[in-house]
Amino acid sequence: MPQRTRPEILFPLFAPVTALKGIGARIGGHLERLAGPQVVDLLWHLPVGIIDRRYSPNLVDLEPGRVATLVLTVVKHHAPPVRNRRIPYRIDCRDETGEITLVYFHGRADYLKSALPEGEVRLVSGSAELYDGRLQMTHPNIVAKTADRETVMRVQPVYPLTEGLSQNVLGKAIGAAIERTNELAEWLDPALVGQRKWVPWQQALMAAHAPGDKKDLEPAMPHRMRLAYDELLASQLAIMLVRSHVRRQAGHPIAGNGRLRSRVLRALPFELTNSQKTAIDEIGSDMAAGHRMLRLLQGDVGSGKTVVALMAMLNAVETGRQAAMMAPTEILAQQHYATISPLAEAAGVRCALLTGRYKGKARDAIVAGVADGKMPLVVGTHALFQDDIIFKDLAMAVVDEQHRFGVHQRLLLAEKGAAVDVLLMTATPIPRTLMLAAYGDLDESQLREKPAGRKSVKTTTASIDRLNDAVAGVERQLDTGGKVFWVCPLVEESVTVDVAAATARHAALRERFGDRVGLVHGKMLGKEKEAVMARFAGKDGPSIDVLVATTVIEVGVDVPDATVMVIEHAERFGLAQLHQLRGRIGRGDRDATCLLLYGHQIGDTGRERLRVLRDTDDGFEIAEQDLRLRGAGDVLGTRQSGLPEFRLVDIDAHGELLAMARDDARMIIERDPGLETARGNALRTLLYLFERDAAVRFARAG
Ligand code: ADP
Ligand code: MG
Repeated sequence: MPQRTRPEILFPLFAPVTALKGIGARIGGHLERLAGPQVVDLLWHLPVGIIDRRYSPNLVDLEPGRVATLVLTVVKHHAPPVRNRRIPYRIDCRDETGEITLVYFHGRADYLKSALPEGEVRLVSGSAELYDGRLQMTHPNIVAKTADRETVMRVQPVYPLTEGLSQNVLGKAIGAAIERTNELAEWLDPALVGQRKWVPWQQALMAAHAPGDKKDLEPAMPHRMRLAYDELLASQLAIMLVRSHVRRQAGHPIAGNGRLRSRVLRALPFELTNSQKTAIDEIGSDMAAGHRMLRLLQGDVGSGKTVVALMAMLNAVETGRQAAMMAPTEILAQQHYATISPLAEAAGVRCALLTGRYKGKARDAIVAGVADGKMPLVVGTHALFQDDIIFKDLAMAVVDEQHRFGVHQRLLLAEKGAAVDVLLMTATPIPRTLMLAAYGDLDESQLREKPAGRKSVKTTTASIDRLNDAVAGVERQLDTGGKVFWVCPLVEESVTVDVAAATARHAALRERFGDRVGLVHGKMLGKEKEAVMARFAGKDGPSIDVLVATTVIEVGVDVPDATVMVIEHAERFGLAQLHQLRGRIGRGDRDATCLLLYGHQIGDTGRERLRVLRDTDDGFEIAEQDLRLRGAGDVLGTRQSGLPEFRLVDIDAHGELLAMARDDARMIIERDPGLETARGNALRTLLYLFERDAAVRFARAG
C-alpha cells in the first residue's frame, strides 16, 4: 500500500525543536530563527568550519594560540574581591609538567566551583596564551569530566550562529536531531549511488555534520553531493508530479474564431511587436491542443505582456467560456484592469475587477456575474480564489508576477474550472539553469523586443556624497513639470527600518519642496497607498510630484509623467530589481533619467553590477550578468527571484546535478507514475522529508 501520509519513520523529525531534550522555549526560539521550527530543519543546518580539539599536549609542550584540550588538576580558586568586578575570577591548575591559570571575567563562583572543584581532574579545551611568561586560558570553550574524553577530543563542527546561541548549545541540539534520524530505504538509483560512491542518506548526513578536516566542508565532497542531490531530486520530482497531474487532465481545446480579438487589434493605438505576435501564436496553438496549457510568458517591464494575455483570454471568451487574470497586489490588479477594460469594452466584452476591497453588494454582483457566466472576464487579486467564487465555465487563467504566489495558490485558481489553461507571466528574466531548478521544463514564450518609440532610460551612478546634486537635479525636473520617484533601500530585510529611512528622506525633501512630496511604504494601508499613488499619477487630490517610496512601487504604477528616479543605496538591491524599478519611468514621451546613488561600502563587484545596469537596458542580459557576478547562490537567495530556496544545494557547485535530477525525476514518473514500487515508496519518504507533501497527492492513484 503506497504511503499517503507522512510515514511514521519521519515523525521524530517533524516535531518542534523544543521536543529535543534540554531545549526550552527560549533556546527553541533562537533555533527557530536560525534554522526553522522543526527538528528536521536542524538537520539541514550544515557546518561551515571546524575546530580541532584533538591536540592534547602536556603543558610544557603547549603551543600558545592553538586550540588544545588539556587534562588538568584543579589547584585553587581565586575569587575577585566582591566590590571589584573588573578583576577576573582565576583558577590555578596544573599537570605533571607545568601550571596554567584559567581566567573568567564576571565568572559565577557557584558555577565555577561545581564545574572545576579543587583537587579534581578535568578536561579543559580552548586556546591558551602567555601572559607575563605564564600560561593562561581565558574563558575555556569546554570544561568536562575525563569520562567525556571521546566527545570533547574530536574535530568539532562550527555552525553559523545567531545571537543567543553558542556553538555548544547549537551543536548539542543538532546532535540530538541527528539522533532522531533513522536509516531510510534508499530512494536513489543504485547504479547512480555506486558510480558516484555515495553512502546512504543517514550516513551522508552524519558525515556532513562530522567533518574530519576542512576539506570535508566542501560542496564537492560525496556526502554533501548526495544530500544536495536528494534535495534537488525531491524538488524536481515534486514539480513534475504537479505538472504531470496538470497535463494528464484532458484539456478542452480552445480555438476562438478571432472576432473579439480582431476588434481589440483595431482598437489598439499601436502595432503589436513581432515578439508579441509570436507569443500570441504560441499561446494560441497551446490552447488549441488537447492537453492543458502551462506556459510562462517572460518579458521585461514594459514589453507589453498585458495585451498578449488579453488576447489569450479573449480566445477563450470567443468560445463562450470565461477567463481570469490574477495579480499579486491590489495596485497591480487595478492597473491591469485599467488597461484591459477599455479594450474589452471596445470588443463588447464585459470585464470586472475583484479584489479584497470589494465587499457587500458590489462584491455580490460580481460573484453572481461570475457564477452565471454573464461576466466573461475578471481581473483580480487572491480574492479570486476564495471559496464562494464559482465560475460558470473558467477556461483560461493568467497569473501575473507569478513568483509572488505559491505553487499551491497558482493551482487553486486553475482548479476553479475544468482543465483550465494557465499562462504564467513574469518580468523577472530567469536564466536557464534557474528556470530548471524552479519549474523543471516549462513551455516558455519570451518578449524580447521593446515596443517602438519607447524611450530608453539614461542611467547614471554616483556616490551618496553627491546627494545635494541629486536634489538640485530633482528641482530642475520639477521646474519643467516632471515627476520624480525617490526610492529608499531595503535595510537588513526589516520593514520597520526601511520605513524609518524613507520617512526621514520624506521629511528632508519636504523641507525643500513642501507639500509636493508624498510618501508610500509597505506599512501603510492599501487605501492610504492608493490615495498617495493617485495623487502622484495626477488623478485626484492636490498633485504630488516627488514620491518617496520603499520598494512597494516596484511593480505596477503607470505614471507616464514620471521622468526621474533616484535610488538610494542602489548597491543593496538585486540587479533585476533595480531594472524593474527603472522600468517605472520613461513610459511617456519625455526623456527619462535614473540616478543610482551608492554608499561607501560598495565593493568592486558592486560597482561592476551597477555598471551593467548603466550600460544595458536588456533585462535578459542583465539577468545573465547578475548571475555571472554574484553566482547563482545569491541570485537564488534573493527575495524577489521567486525561486525555491535550497537548504543543501549550492547551485554554483551542484549545478551539474540539476539536469541529472530532472532526467531522473522524468524517468521515475514515466515508469512509476503512482510511486508504487519499492523505490517509489522510498521516494515518497524523500518527498515528505523535504516537505513536498502537496506533491505526493499528485502521484497517480492505482
Ligand atoms: P508589462 O510587460 O510590463 O506588463 P504592459 O503590458 O503593462 O507591460 O505594457 C506597458 C505599456 O506599453 C502599456 O501602456 C501598453 O499599452 C504599451 N504597449 C504594449 N504593447 C505595445 C506595443 N506593441 N507598442 C506600443 N506600446 C505598447
Ligand atoms: Mg505588467
